[in-house]
Amino acid sequence: MKALVIFSGGQDSSTCLAWAQRRYDEVEAITFFYGQTHEIEIRQSEKIATALGVKQHLVDISFYKNMVHSVLTGDAGKIDDQHPDNAHLPASFVPNRNALFILLAHSFAQTIKAGALVAGLCQTDYSGYPDCRENFAKEILHALNLGSDQAIELITPLMHLTKAETFQLAETEGVLDLVVQESHTCYLGSPRPNPWGRGCGHCPACLLRKKGYFEFITQKGA
Ligand SMILES: [Zn+2]
Repeated sequence: MKALVIFSGGQDSSTCLAWAQRRYDEVEAITFFYGQTHEIEIRQSEKIATALGVKQHLVDISFYKNMVHSVLTGDAGKIDDQHPDNAHLPASFVPNRNALFILLAHSFAQTIKAGALVAGLCQTDYSGYPDCRENFAKEILHALNLGSDQAIELITPLMHLTKAETFQLAETEGVLDLVVQESHTCYLGSPRPNPWGRGCGHCPACLLRKKGYFEFITQKGA
């Protein structure tokens, strides 16, 4: 079976890409440029796809930044603020981003005859995004399959893993160094190298990644 991985170039989706390569006959990646201010994410995704020998499809949906508020699209204030349209969510939330990614990937999967979508959604250590939850993933896939008369699967290998366990999975799949050195998750787009990867070290994404990495190292040494 062929799998299409929704691939941002971050820690989670990079790990998923390697995970999928070991489990599917053929793997392709789809990467969305949605107007995120940090194009470093796209450059790093290209490096990782090349290193893993995966065919990557870059899709420009940059119109989307004009439709929603998020600090990730250069709008909506500072990284630690509340979201301007929903005080319960962080300013980094991009409304319906995962819905849009899954919708477009589900369409393209039909075109390239992929029977599975793989996504790095995770509800364990998540940043407070409701569209990373398992019930959301199941509901949207069900709706899309109904609407296209398809039976495409949506596989989310990281859904119940902590960040430390995701580092462990990267090691198991043989891509720990690649994930640490090349994947990019920092909300501020900092390329600064650290033992736990590239990033500013203090935005919410960096804090989560740093904490997970040191937990992983501690558990390994225990
Ligand atoms: Zn950062």
